[in-house]
Amino acid sequence: MIKVLKFGGTSVGSAENMRKVANIIRREGSTLTVLSAMSGTTDALVKICALAKQGQQKGVPSIVEGLVQKYTTCIDGLLTGERRQAAMDRMNEVFERIHREAQQYGPGASDKVIQAQGELLTSFIFNQYLSEEGERSALLNAPEFMLSGADGKVDQAQLKAILGAQTQAPDTYYITQGFICTNDKGQLDNLGRGGSDYSAALMGVAIGADEVQIWTDIDGMHNNDPRYVEKTYPIRHMTFDDAAELAYFGAKILHPSTIQPCKEHGIPVRLKNTMDPEAPGTLITNEGDDSLFSAVAAKDNITVIRIHSLRMLMAYGFLRKVFEIFEEHRTSIDMITTSEVSVSLTIDNDEHLEAIVAELKKLGTIEIERDNSIICIVGDLDHQKAGLVWRISGSLNTIPVKMISYGASHRSMVMLIATENKIKALQDINHGLFNL
Ligand code: ADP
Ligand code: ASP
Ligand code: MG
Repeated sequence: MIKVLKFGGTSVGSAENMRKVANIIRREGSTLTVLSAMSGTTDALVKICALAKQGQQKGVPSIVEGLVQKYTTCIDGLLTGERRQAAMDRMNEVFERIHREAQQYGPGASDKVIQAQGELLTSFIFNQYLSEEGERSALLNAPEFMLSGADGKVDQAQLKAILGAQTQAPDTYYITQGFICTNDKGQLDNLGRGGSDYSAALMGVAIGADEVQIWTDIDGMHNNDPRYVEKTYPIRHMTFDDAAELAYFGAKILHPSTIQPCKEHGIPVRLKNTMDPEAPGTLITNEGDDSLFSAVAAKDNITVIRIHSLRMLMAYGFLRKVFEIFEEHRTSIDMITTSEVSVSLTIDNDEHLEAIVAELKKLGTIEIERDNSIICIVGDLDHQKAGLVWRISGSLNTIPVKMISYGASHRSMVMLIATENKIKALQDINHGLFNL
C-alpha cells in the first residue's frame, strides 16, 4: 500500500514528538513523509519578514536566537556525533541565510526564501534522526518537484514525473517538505499558510497513493471548533464534499485545497492524532456521516458589499455586470443574497476592494461592512425536511444574523454574523444543534 503521511508543526515540534513521528511512519509503512516546520517557526519567520520590510533589521537577531535555542534542543535530543554536527551545520547555514536575506531584503522574493527555511531545516533534522535509528531513508528537496506556474498552481505532470523517478528505491522512507515550491520565475515560493496538507495531497496523487494521512494534534475533524467551544467530538467518517466545505469555511485542521485533488483521484484522506495514534481519527471518502447536523465551522475576515440599485428592478443582465467586476479583479465571492433592488455579496480577500467598489459605484449605491464571520453548518439538510431553518436559526436566537444562504446544496447552510459574536454563535450552536 502506498501511503503519504503528513505531519504538522506540533507533531514535529520537539525531539520527543519527532520520536513519535518516527514510530508512526514505521508502524504505518509510510512511503512518503511530508513535514511542516517545527511549531512556531513559520510565525517567527513571518515576523522576521515584517521587521525586514519595515527596515527594522535590528529586531531580527532576538527572534533568530529563540529559534536557534529551539532547534538546538531538538537536535541535542535526537542526534549524536557526526549526525549531530551535520544538523548543527545545516542549522547555522539556514540562520545565516535568513540573516542575509533580512539584511538585503527585497519584498516578495526574500519573504519566500525566509519562510521556506523552517521546513528545510526540520526535514533535514528528522532525516538525520531516521539514519541515527538505523533506518534507510532519503531526504527529497520539494522545490525540485513542486513547480508552480504563473497561475500559482503546481504542475501535476512534472510533479508526477520527477517525484515518481525519485521514489523508486524499495524499503526506503522518503522524507520531504510540505508548504514550499518553486514558482514560475524559478524562485523559492510557498502554497500559503497551512499549505503542507495541500502539498501532501498533490504528492499523494503524483505517486498514486492509496491513502493520504494528515497527522496533527487532535483526533480528527470535530463537530465544532475546539479552539472556541469546550465540548466537541470527532466525526469518524466524512465525505470529501463535507470536509472540503468545512475546511473552506474555517476548520483549521485541513488546508482548504487539500481535498479536491484527493477526491478527484478517489484517494481516501485520514486525519489522525500524533499524540494519540490509537484514536481512530476521521476517514474522508465518498461516504459520510448521516447525522442531521454533522459539523459547524467559522471563517473570519469577511467583508460584505451591498449594492443598491433601482436599475436592478425587473432588469436582466444586472448580476452578470456585477460578477464581471469581481472576475476582472480575481476576487471570488463566498455568499450572495438578493432582493428586488439590492444584492449583498461577501468576499474574504479585500486586496482589490477599492478598485472593485470604484466600478460597482457605476451600477448603484455601495455599502461596505468589515469584520464579519461566516458560520457554515454541514449536515443532512435535505430541502424536503420541514423545520431545519427553524432549528438552526432558533439555536442562534440571541445573535443578529446578517445574511443567510441555504438551498445551494442539500448539505450546508451558511450564515453571516459580526465576528464579535462568533464564539457565542459556535457555543450556542453546540447547545442547540448538537445538544452539548
Ligand atoms: P498542523 O500544525 O498539524 O497542521 P493545525 O493547527 O493546522 O495543525 O490544525 C489542527 C488544529 O485545528 C487543531 O489543534 C484545532 O485546534 C484546529 N481546529 C479547528 N477546527 C477544527 C475542527 N473542526 N476539528 C478539528 N480541529 C479543528
Ligand atoms: N509551516 C507552514 C505554516 O505554518 C505550513 C504548514 O504548517 O502547513 O503555515
Ligand atoms: Mg495545518
